[in-house]
Amino acid sequence: MTDEYDLIVVGGGSGGMATARRAAAHGARVAMVERHRLGGTCVNVGCVPKKVMWYASETAATLERAADYGFTLDGYRFDWQALREARDAYVERLNGVYARNVERAEIDLYRGTARLQDAQTVEVDGQALRGRYLLLAPGGRPTRPAIPGAEHGIDSDGFFELAEQPRRAAVVGAGYIAVELAGVLHHLGTETALTVRRDSPLRGFDPLLREALTEAMAVDGPTLHTGFVPAACERQGDGSLELVSEDGQRLAGLDTVIWATGRRPATDGLGLASAGVEVRGDGSIPVDDYQRTSAPSVFAVGDVTGNDFPLTPVAIAAGRRLADRLFGGKADSRLDYRDIPSVVFSHPPLGTVGLTEPEAQSVYGPDSVACYQTRFFPMNYALAPQEVKRRTAMRLVTVGAEERVVGVHIFGEGADEMLQGFAVAVRMGATKADLDHTVAIHPTSAEELVTL
Ligand SMILES: Cc1cc2nc3c(=O)[nH]c(=O)nc-3n(C[C@H](O)[C@H](O)[C@H](O)COP(=O)(O)OP(=O)(O)OC[C@H]3O[C@@H](n4cnc5c(N)ncnc54)[C@H](O)[C@@H]3O)c2cc1C
Repeated sequence: MTDEYDLIVVGGGSGGMATARRAAAHGARVAMVERHRLGGTCVNVGCVPKKVMWYASETAATLERAADYGFTLDGYRFDWQALREARDAYVERLNGVYARNVERAEIDLYRGTARLQDAQTVEVDGQALRGRYLLLAPGGRPTRPAIPGAEHGIDSDGFFELAEQPRRAAVVGAGYIAVELAGVLHHLGTETALTVRRDSPLRGFDPLLREALTEAMAVDGPTLHTGFVPAACERQGDGSLELVSEDGQRLAGLDTVIWATGRRPATDGLGLASAGVEVRGDGSIPVDDYQRTSAPSVFAVGDVTGNDFPLTPVAIAAGRRLADRLFGGKADSRLDYRDIPSVVFSHPPLGTVGLTEPEAQSVYGPDSVACYQTRFFPMNYALAPQEVKRRTAMRLVTVGAEERVVGVHIFGEGADEMLQGFAVAVRMGATKADLDHTVAIHPTSAEELVTL
């Protein structure tokens, strides 16, 4: 049986959902195919449950420091299972909200696995749907290293299924997901190791932030093992796991190993060849500035495109602009992928927008770049013993004689909430003088950015 749609969306995650709803709002007849839970990675096994866990771990850190402010907390304890149940119930409520949104928008939802038959036909478990346009938003999945014993570990999806809190865990990976999961476990009381292949986590972030994170981890964080290239994960006679590196380092007595070693686009079995959609060797789908794939009627948004910012708001923004272009009469609507802000929910968090110092130097030449930075103990540590204090670090990257701000990098308490407004300023082309002319808010950490 063949159905006619203006748009068929593969994937009900961040990008697919946003595109489908915007297209439907413009009056398009839309079908959406989803094989798991609505909301995709972000809602079910990404941003949302991760942030709940981060809040829990920040609460633990606050409780630890309550004595600084005169509190005596007698015998409090943490219940992993209670947190998990409350978190999962919240995610389920969100699944329901998404289902109602789809219904209200009059989007036809097909539950099953989509496979492209040609550039206008999608097959869902034997049923063929025909559309003027197809949108591919299938996201990605966690990968594991191809080493002996990798099956003994879990990935970030498995982290959210843990029924019990690990006593001793190793998190393998240098990206933001590894940093976040390791920080959460550590602050909730798990003895946690974070292993990275090179010299520090978060490659690609401004060096100041990487240094500040490493320093803060040494004060209170997971134990960082650098130069650790995993070679095997062994199950011991007592049931514990042992992680072995290529050069013979061993992390023993673990009950959980978490691979946070990357993600792969979910394009296997999607039938891209039948539709004439090109795919890269890593499984991602190349698109042009307008999210067009190599097949004229097929578009792609989100993580599957292998863009530099595999983040929920990026998938949403690209999808909405595409729908505005295809169905809303905005002929030139497209996402500008420059100056996209992002936050890592480490302890404390870090936020970054624009170019790092090395990037600015390579784009504009070293002589055109001037950086302003500061490192300080935030006031929240004023009453704390010296040994628990973690420093805040901030860097502004400016270019040219007018000192246009092309990068803002913040590590420290409140960085997650601080950055959004500064990202607006960067997009608007703010100069260092504009920041200087802005009156500070006192006493805050953010004021340092306008008094550098
Ligand atoms: C642990 C973790 C933490 C994260 N934290 C953040 C964060 O704090 N902030 C942030 O912005 N981003 C975060 N992300 C990234 C964010 O989740 C992704 O960038 C975002 O979900 C990408 O959206 P998408 O639409 O491309 O894909 P997804 O959200 O992954 O959605 C894809 C959907 O397509 C479905 N699907 C796939 N193939 C098929 C098929 N053949 N047929 C039918 N359905 C199919 C899948 O089931 C899925 O529901 C995090 C990710 C992880 C893993």
